[in-house]
Amino acid sequence: MDHLNLLLNIGQLDWVFKGSSSIENLLGKLVVMVAKHMQADVCSIYISDDAKGKLVLRANTGFKPQLIGKIRLKPGEGIAGTVFEKNEPVCIADGFTHPNFRYCKGTGEERYKSFLSVPIVSGAAPLGVIMLQRQENNRFKNSDIKALQVVASQLAVVLENVKIILSLQGATPRANARGKKEQHHSVFLKGKAASRGYAYAKAALAIGTERFHEIAARTFGKKYGLADLQKALTKTEKELETLQKLVEDKLSDAASMIFTSHLLILKDKSFLAAMTTPVQKGRNAPDAVIATGQKYITLFAASPVPYMQEKVHDIEDLVTRLIRNLAGKEAKLPPVRHRIVIATDLYPSDLLKLSSEKVKGIVLLSGGVTSHVSILARSLQIPMVIVNDPVANTISDGDHILIDAEIGNVYINPDKDIVQEFKDRIDEQATVKAPPVMMPFSETKDGVRIKLMANVNLLKDLELLSQLSCDGIGLYRSEFPFIIRKNFPTEEEQYFIYRKLVLGAPSKDVTFRTLDIGGDKVPAYWESSNTGNSFLGLRSIRFSLAHQDIFTQQIRAILRAGADCHLKIMFPMIFSLEEFIQAKGIVMNCIDELKKSGEAFNDQPKIGMMVEVPAVIEIIEEFARIVDFFSIGTNDLVQYMLAVDRTNEEVSEYYIPHHPAVLRAIKRVAVAAVACGKEVSVCGDMANNAKYLQFIIGCGIRTLSMNPIYLAENQKIIGGIDVAKAETLTQRLLATGNIDTIRKELFLS
Ligand code: PEP
Ligand code: MG
Repeated sequence: MDHLNLLLNIGQLDWVFKGSSSIENLLGKLVVMVAKHMQADVCSIYISDDAKGKLVLRANTGFKPQLIGKIRLKPGEGIAGTVFEKNEPVCIADGFTHPNFRYCKGTGEERYKSFLSVPIVSGAAPLGVIMLQRQENNRFKNSDIKALQVVASQLAVVLENVKIILSLQGATPRANARGKKEQHHSVFLKGKAASRGYAYAKAALAIGTERFHEIAARTFGKKYGLADLQKALTKTEKELETLQKLVEDKLSDAASMIFTSHLLILKDKSFLAAMTTPVQKGRNAPDAVIATGQKYITLFAASPVPYMQEKVHDIEDLVTRLIRNLAGKEAKLPPVRHRIVIATDLYPSDLLKLSSEKVKGIVLLSGGVTSHVSILARSLQIPMVIVNDPVANTISDGDHILIDAEIGNVYINPDKDIVQEFKDRIDEQATVKAPPVMMPFSETKDGVRIKLMANVNLLKDLELLSQLSCDGIGLYRSEFPFIIRKNFPTEEEQYFIYRKLVLGAPSKDVTFRTLDIGGDKVPAYWESSNTGNSFLGLRSIRFSLAHQDIFTQQIRAILRAGADCHLKIMFPMIFSLEEFIQAKGIVMNCIDELKKSGEAFNDQPKIGMMVEVPAVIEIIEEFARIVDFFSIGTNDLVQYMLAVDRTNEEVSEYYIPHHPAVLRAIKRVAVAAVACGKEVSVCGDMANNAKYLQFIIGCGIRTLSMNPIYLAENQKIIGGIDVAKAETLTQRLLATGNIDTIRKELFLS
């Protein structure tokens, strides 16, 4: 081997240790030695600083020494960042032509165009990167790559220790995870991005149970009398009325009555008397309020009816609000307004409340990114990160939190430089931006027309859609008004919501997905016998067929609202031909009934189904003959095919949309649909993700329905896709049964 001497020297690192006065000195010697042996002009070692999510230049020969510690790259940024993120070497004759190249000012590196960089990996975890640079006419050879890889592997053990020591020097102590609140100093948590955006604000600890228990355990030193209580009651009532008005104006479809139960309880005579009577007799008002809250909670919690049990939540919220207005300072209860909320669990209705309180962001300690709370947070445009790290439990009220929900990072009490780094992005997010420029329709590079449709969860989504361009609504998740409200909306209420949707739709194509409750979308007022795994229970179309009165009302409302649009109706979670035929039969009966009524309605809707249950794939050819269209719901298809709960962050590493079985299933649906001349679309989160677009188009699918925030950027990506190339990629992906090979093709190339 060309570099035997170097490898021997590296293998005996003790000489480096012996003569080194400090870690910096040790690293300095290492880079000089490697550069000399490899005849490189520059040698750099970057080590990752996990707390800050950056690769930091820790040693260098060839640049000015002042740059050490100053050059900081994000994973994926620059050649070093790319090598680190992809965990693969880069050897390139002219680094300036690399797509991720980043010129670092003051390095003088314009002279050194030839790059060789390899990752330094310990176990499976990347630690950093070693990088060599030479003058442009002196490119590295294959033997150089192999040698540097061996060097990197030998260095890994040393650098692992260096990294630990540097992190201690860098004062990034991890909080202990005993659940005890501590003063955090700059802690970094890696989570999953559930709803995009950035936010920086003080933390407000969970709404609901935890907070109530905390208040209940307090003793109030100051004396509060009847007048204080009356004042607090009036203030609370006003607050709730304002909030209710606010949500109704902005979220009319889902928000009806959302704060109303709080208001009703507040006006309830016995509830009021339970608080005021003891205060008149001399009891301190906060104690009386808490005791009343506890009494009602015990009552509601004991009820066998889920609807009543949900009231516990309302009482906890209400009492917390009351105490804040009564003894705010002493109770140290900051409002959640403009804060980042840390919560262990959230109902969809909580999200609406938080949205009306203008929270800046959410750190959620449970759930998955395809869960419906995440989907709703995206519609409400609240940045949200899901974190499965016990350290998150130790966040205190008032800790400063920065969330980067573009990539899923959470910083607790971040250092000034991190805050500064995000300032521009946060400011930019707050400015009212001109809508992205979009072409009126989408096509691939070689002119193949792709229908881009939007997923709509709340009517609020239409605001954004009105500024974009797309071919209609490909998925309206009709259940959100059902699960957020306090009762099933009537046919008329549904008609009004659906009519607004149709009138606000960006084109005539409107696809209604019929009620998909169950799973993680259970209305609290619904007395369900579902126990155990509700994703496998009376969910979706099963629920609708078991409650045909509710289903019929919904279908009638849809047919009436869609009188003058290109109406499409699809059933979720279909598992058999018989089930589809039965559901379609109900639609036909509704059409017959409406004909008799003389009302305006749509008598020729297209009737299709979602492909979400794996069993359907084996009989997809038969389905293709009887449906008008398919829409592939990859969120559920992945969950059911891979037996992995989409809402459970603990198993999220198993939630792999690019699993070969999933890819082959998608292809099979596409082939069956195309053979019968039926439309097929993808409407699950895979359609949001730019990385899957080539594969989906390569399968022959020409319709995609996605969250509106992805429309503009995905239209651009589609404009760069060549269908013949996409088909070749798809063939390659379908030919392998290996998850990792597919991952590399899709994400690392
Ligand atoms: C899906 O399952 O992919 C889908 C689009 O439906 P939902 O996410 O509402 O279950
Ligand atoms: Mg689904």
